[in-house]
This record gives sequence, C-alpha cells and structure tokens, in this order.
Amino acid sequence: MKRLASIHVSEISEEEKTRFWQKVEKRSDSECWEWKAHRTPEGYGRFKFRGRLIGANRFTLWLSGIDTENLVACHHCDNPPCCNPAHLYAGTYADNSKDCFVRNRREKFYPRQYPSHVPKECLEAAIKAKRKLTPEQVLEIRKSNETDRVLGLRYGVAKGTIFNIKSHRTWKTLT
Ligand SMILES: [Zn+2]
Repeated sequence: MKRLASIHVSEISEEEKTRFWQKVEKRSDSECWEWKAHRTPEGYGRFKFRGRLIGANRFTLWLSGIDTENLVACHHCDNPPCCNPAHLYAGTYADNSKDCFVRNRREKFYPRQYPSHVPKECLEAAIKAKRKLTPEQVLEIRKSNETDRVLGLRYGVAKGTIFNIKSHRTWKTLT
C-alpha cells in the first residue's frame, strides 16, 4: 500500500473526515464496521483522498492518530472491509507490499508457504480463522440439507468451505 506521504492527521479537514465516515457502516464497538463504497477483489475498502486511492483500514488508523508509514494496517477481526478502529492495529514488518490479511489468507490455503517474518498477532489471527468451525459444527453441516450458500452464511464461511466439508475434501478424519 502507498504511503500517506507527510500529511499529518490534523491536516485532514472535517469535510474529508465526514466523507470518509459516511462510507462506513458504523455499529457498536464490538461489531465490525464495514466499508460500503469501493472495495478491492479481496474486500478491502478503498478511499479516494486528494486524488489517490488509500486503504480504508489504513485511513482509519491514520484518523486515530496512528502513523502507519512503513507499517501495515492489520485486522484483529480478519474481516477485510472492517474499519472499526478497535479492530485494527499497525503491524510491524519490513515487507509492507501486502497486508497481513492477504498473508493470513495465504496461510489458510497454503500453510507451508507461510512467510516466517509475519508478526505473531497476524499468525494467531490466521490460525483462529482457520479453526473457525468446530467439529460439532462440521457434523451439523454434513447432516444439513440446506444449500452451501445458506450454510456458508450461517456459519460465516465461504460456500466452497461448506462444499469441501460435505464432500469430505476437508475434515476427512471426522465421521
Ligand atoms: Zn472488525
């Protein structure tokens, strides 16, 4: 992600702040505040600020006074469009070309390729995301006659995950 140059948070006008928060679905502190406007294919919000597209999660941290220059805006909640400041933190690693979540995703699908320099918090988030479902839930899913899409929405996973569970491509040892 691009650096936010040398613009200090105090230089962001009230108008710009309002324009930003209008694109966020604000909820309670514990819930995710999703970005309603333009998103990348991975689901990250993009905010047009002074002619540049900036990551909405990065902009959120910036508004909270956290300088993410040379850092990466990471999600505690593993939800790319989330802009709840309480769910975000600045990750510290040298390679800032990719967000932690992309790494988490990668870890989910290709664990062996998971880069070793990723901060511990990100790794923990990735492991948590990977273990989203309990064995009990997997058995419930297999018993259900509902569509993969409906089950995916209910359990908060992709419909492909449901398909893989039902067709015993994953959780193979569980019967
Ligand atoms: Zn969140």
